[in-house]
Amino acid sequence: MKIHEFQAKELLRKFGVSVPRGRECTTAAEAEQAHKDLGTAVTVVKAQIHAGGRGKGGGVKLVRSAEEAREVAEGMLGMQLVTHQTGPAGQKVRRLWVEEGSDIDREFYVGIAIDREQQLPVMMASKEGGMEIEEVAATHPEKILKAAFTPAEGLAAAEAKRLAEGIGLEGALATKGAEFMVTLAKAFVELDCSLAEINPLVSTKGGDVLALDAKINFDSNGLFRHPELSELRDLHEEDAKEIEASKFDLSYIALDGNIGCMVNGAGLAMATMDVIKLHGGEPANFLDVGGGATKDNVKAAFKILLSDENVKGVLVNIFGGIMRCDVIADGICAAVKEVDLRVPLVVRLEGTNVEQGRRILDESGLPLTSASDLDDAAEKVCAKVRS
Ligand code: ADP
Ligand code: MG
Repeated sequence: MKIHEFQAKELLRKFGVSVPRGRECTTAAEAEQAHKDLGTAVTVVKAQIHAGGRGKGGGVKLVRSAEEAREVAEGMLGMQLVTHQTGPAGQKVRRLWVEEGSDIDREFYVGIAIDREQQLPVMMASKEGGMEIEEVAATHPEKILKAAFTPAEGLAAAEAKRLAEGIGLEGALATKGAEFMVTLAKAFVELDCSLAEINPLVSTKGGDVLALDAKINFDSNGLFRHPELSELRDLHEEDAKEIEASKFDLSYIALDGNIGCMVNGAGLAMATMDVIKLHGGEPANFLDVGGGATKDNVKAAFKILLSDENVKGVLVNIFGGIMRCDVIADGICAAVKEVDLRVPLVVRLEGTNVEQGRRILDESGLPLTSASDLDDAAEKVCAKVRS
């Protein structure tokens, strides 16, 4: 689950991570008042969307008076903010964060992610603040310093110091930088984060070290331990199809291709996407209807797939292990009759009672093609989408 910058900063502040003071605003009048309340000569008006790169897209602006704060807020609220992370349509700005301006001396990158090879969280730090870490990792991997830590022990003070000094912080600033990292690591573990990225972390001319940006993602599997965090979810920022899917316990991720996939089991879903690509097609989504797919969630899944205008063909690939293939075939037929199927449908069933299942599909009179195996299914759906 993703949250906004201002929510991340408020959470981090509670842990003692240093962040600028600010106010959340949803109107221009509130932004004007926020500038007055903060009382600094410069404040920064920041669009709150779940995407980075806002600065370059016009979503981060320095203002020098309450009046200017109002004007800038008026322009930002309601705009479609386009950044390299939003896609060409951009994301509508509904909230702002107005915070005190910092007298930046240097900008750094600090972030924590899970290293799946080491099976540990890893603190990363780099001199290249403001730049995307993926780009630094690709072009200058040696510029990213790393320190893994266990959730039980946290980031060791000496390791944090090595990173702080490694990115060029000295003396008191290095101490503050190291403290910052240790506290960030503590917050990461306690909140069950999957990512905590501070880009940029800055040192100021006044000798402070603080987070000017903050991005936190939570591990959804850990959310049940933090019921208070679910209030931070902002459905406006999420894909409508993904929200609908979550209501039916479907794991659905929208992708850019044109072949809708309905599969049971995450592994089989991944394999299906691979085989589609092998046959020159592009999956429109990842969709796992779960081990015990019922008629209702098969129907919901069809509706979600077909609501995507990019979908030009659908591939159903279901293995009847727990569920019998004849039951699944009945479910598919019922769902297809209820939804308006405008695109070719290829179905591959395998498993218990597969013969009966195929017979049900063949005798249904519905415009669907049945396939004998995964390869055959992918080949058929790719050919139909191409023609
Ligand atoms: P994004 O990563 O979405 O572009 P950031 O929060 O990183 O947004 O802001 C972009 C840039 O704006 C920062 O790298 C920093 O230079 C500047 N900036 C952001 N917040 C402040 C602030 N409070 N004071 C001064 N400059 C800021
Ligand atoms: Mg940033």
